[in-house]
Amino acid sequence: MAFPKIFNELVESLSRFPGIGKRSAERLAFYILKMQPQELKNLIQKMEEVHKNIRPCKFCNNFSTEEFCSICSNPNRQQNVICIVEEPKDVLAIEKTSQYNGLYYVLLGKISPLEGISKEDLNIRKLINRIESGKITEVIISTDPDSDGELTAHFLIQKLSQYKVKIYRIAVGIPLGTQIEYIDTATLGQALLDKKPILT
Ligand SMILES: [Zn+2]
Repeated sequence: MAFPKIFNELVESLSRFPGIGKRSAERLAFYILKMQPQELKNLIQKMEEVHKNIRPCKFCNNFSTEEFCSICSNPNRQQNVICIVEEPKDVLAIEKTSQYNGLYYVLLGKISPLEGISKEDLNIRKLINRIESGKITEVIISTDPDSDGELTAHFLIQKLSQYKVKIYRIAVGIPLGTQIEYIDTATLGQALLDKKPILT
């Protein structure tokens, strides 16, 4: 090994980040080495703060530092519509489109036979509770238009069709097999406007 073991261990840890391969991890490690001590301290502190203080919103599972996230606690949002997404990053993507003013429900996952995640693993109790409360008249299923996302959408349609709620699927002008977070903001905005009603 050309470098000290602790350096390699740092590279190894960094390469576990999503989307970070060995080469990128090395680049990050070199960067960390060159950082000013105070800068590094601030970064570590920020990471700890985020880790300690961010939790799932009690209503929708979106990231929040409070019991309820900023979207759920905003009285100006449409209170009768829920957009169902897989991850908090999808909330971010949809918010960027400025085409949606309702509430969310974040699944924190999706059905994935390959990864051994079945419909039983998907926790939608909080979602069902909200729908059972009778305040929700519309849901827009915005899981990824890939095979796992479609499987999840299908399951949700099945579950939700027993309630008096209009079900929409985000329009798939979006290319199949893609992920919400990678769709450009304009296309995603249009997909929300073109959402298709599901007849149940
Ligand atoms: Zn929330």
